Amino acid sequence: MATIFSKIIAGEIPSYKVAEDERFFAFLDINPLAKGHTLVVPKREVDYLFDLDDEELAAMQVFAKGVALAIQQAFPCKKVGQAVIGLEVPHAHIHLIPIQRESDMIFSNPKLQLTAEEFQAIAAAIHEQWAKNR
Ligand code: AMP
Repeated sequence: MATIFSKIIAGEIPSYKVAEDERFFAFLDINPLAKGHTLVVPKREVDYLFDLDDEELAAMQVFAKGVALAIQQAFPCKKVGQAVIGLEVPHAHIHLIPIQRESDMIFSNPKLQLTAEEFQAIAAAIHEQWAKNR
């Protein structure tokens, strides 16, 4: 059975898309720790990030680098933090989170409540920067 992220990639479930190429897809986390919290996933359905082969893992990290740059341009922050958890959705993904301090990366922090319009505007702002940088 396809994962929820495969359904998002296929457009069967809506998402706030940030970036896409032939092999990878980036969209906003629906329970964001900060404005701009983004997930980067491989289109190929693999549960555990470290089960990706070396070349695909490296390419995914390079794709995530471009998304992180665009996040920081759209939402100025000290750094874009990266985390891998993957206990909830069995489809490898990297979290990219704009942070000012270490505690901004704590996943048990309260999540932001954003409207659909806010999510759309955030995704559009990041996408615009990402497209410009290509
Ligand atoms: P984890 O697998 O522990 O890294 O957590 C999965 C992440 O995916 C969580 O931060 C969820 O908020 C996020 N998530 C789950 N379903 C969706 C969805 N349909 N759209 C966007 N983000 C999602």
